[in-house]
Amino acid sequence: MRRWNGWGDEANQMHLPANGDRFLIERIGDASPLPNATLDTVLAQVPQSRLVAHPLIVTAAEDRVRHARGQSLPDWLAMRSGDFGVFPDGVAYPETAEQVAELVRYAYSQDILLIPYGGGTSVAGHINPFQSEKPILTIDMGRMNRLLDMDEASQIATLGAGTPGPQLEALLRARGYTLGHFPQSFELSTVGGWVASRSSGQQSLRYGRIEQLFAGGRVETPLGCLEIPTLPASSAGPDIREMVMGSEGRMGIISEVKVRVSRLPEEERFYVIFFPDWQKAKSAARELVQQRIQLSMLRLSNAIETETQLALAGHESLIALLERFLALRGASTGKCMMTLGITGSRTQCKAVRSQVKKLVREFGGIYTGTHLGDKWAEKRFTMPYLREALWSKGYVVDTLETATDWDNVDNLLNRMEENLRTVIADQGEKVHVFTHLSHFYGQGCSIYTTYVFRSADTYEKTLAWWKTLKHTTSELIVNNRGTISHQHGVGKDHAPYLPVEKGPLGMKAIEAVMSTFDPQGQLNPGTLLVD
Ligand SMILES: Cc1cc2nc3c(=O)[nH]c(=O)nc-3n(C[C@H](O)[C@H](O)[C@H](O)COP(=O)(O)OP(=O)(O)OC[C@H]3O[C@@H](n4cnc5c(N)ncnc54)[C@H](O)[C@@H]3O)c2cc1C
Repeated sequence: MRRWNGWGDEANQMHLPANGDRFLIERIGDASPLPNATLDTVLAQVPQSRLVAHPLIVTAAEDRVRHARGQSLPDWLAMRSGDFGVFPDGVAYPETAEQVAELVRYAYSQDILLIPYGGGTSVAGHINPFQSEKPILTIDMGRMNRLLDMDEASQIATLGAGTPGPQLEALLRARGYTLGHFPQSFELSTVGGWVASRSSGQQSLRYGRIEQLFAGGRVETPLGCLEIPTLPASSAGPDIREMVMGSEGRMGIISEVKVRVSRLPEEERFYVIFFPDWQKAKSAARELVQQRIQLSMLRLSNAIETETQLALAGHESLIALLERFLALRGASTGKCMMTLGITGSRTQCKAVRSQVKKLVREFGGIYTGTHLGDKWAEKRFTMPYLREALWSKGYVVDTLETATDWDNVDNLLNRMEENLRTVIADQGEKVHVFTHLSHFYGQGCSIYTTYVFRSADTYEKTLAWWKTLKHTTSELIVNNRGTISHQHGVGKDHAPYLPVEKGPLGMKAIEAVMSTFDPQGQLNPGTLLVD
């Protein structure tokens, strides 16, 4: 069963290895966990629903609790403290596009606010109910999880928008296809959520972001159904697909998604390469991408992330052996770890592998083969469970991500890390900060920074620290040529920073599009735009 107050399935757990524990104590000090609220105490707080009975709507307290929060750090603190704030008044679980359309019409006629809910994996407050006098209805798309059509000639699959990653891949793989979209939240996030929040998967180098994969579909809007036809390309004016992507539930509810799928590759392997320092590693990564070497995935950890990952990996003696081997080859303190994926036919993979080996040698890269790459692949979707393990030891963890052009990568990365490291120092707190680059483009790349700090002695204080860390770094990002989000979207947490990126005219255009489809402003208020 899914956890009501954290990530994933209750049956799955991850433990912090002993040396991981020591590593954190050494970096930021010993910590003690805050007490967790029980489900019963939270259920007892759920107020009377303001919705009248409707055959498609459930008003049971537990359904409302389970849909009140996503996965951001404030959500996590709300769920753990039991201080949820606002609950939706009810939840509907439609099974067809017609039922979605009926619910949208009903909500419009009854002045009900609507929140489309995919997998609830938002880390930016997208699906949290907005405080309002009006009743709030969450539409959980989870039962719309079927493969509705497979056009093999055009390689287009039509899926219910609530289909989560594992089910979607299983449906396609049974027919010899893959979508190739693998966000770290793959286990729970849905294809409709990916489109609505402009998601990016770990193998975007080969398959593209959701922008390249989303071919069309159906959106149920208050003004009727918007059908987006599938076209390989078009120069017929602005693209409506683009307006749907990133609409974050404010334009309508996506009921069916048509995606561009690929044949399953013959071979796929992940490799790890170490570099003696950051500048060499970064230059190698940029060259790999700018020379268009056909990788499927690329991730470059800075020195602190490399050190942290090796410390948290467990297998102390094996890691010590690896460290000795790398030191002998010239990579010791300051070394950086690159993980890359090569996917395709056997012949293509062989050719790419030798291109990679040749290129990385020029930058002092030490090729370690597939062993560590296999470990990465094994854990690629289970890492979110580590948050639970850290929480139980009294540590909280969050991430900030952006993208910028190559000429600005070091500047932005250093500023972000420095700010996170120092901004709550006056409270006597140390923050452990580390970064990787991922989602590489010829022009630039995304910067993904993780920060770990001890929970304070109260929930309120922990949240206040987070607000300082998040706000000051978000301001710094948008004022230093970074996007407020490369892949997590805007939600409520990033909405205040969007105007810096889009400008007043840009914001007006976005508002105009949303209000064209939702003239009464009943769809997901507070998300994407500050209402
Ligand atoms: C541990 C973890 C790792 C993550 N890793 C990644 C990553 O690698 N890449 C990445 O891109 N993101 C990542 N995310 C963020 C998140 O998973 C993505 O934003 C994802 O696209 C959200 O999908 P979802 O189905 O859970 O949508 P939800 O969280 O339920 O909703 C997100 C937004 O989309 C809207 N929405 C959802 N479904 C529909 C629909 N059918 N019609 C209209 N609007 C809809 C909602 O109203 C909301 O505004 C991660 C999150 C976590 C917790």
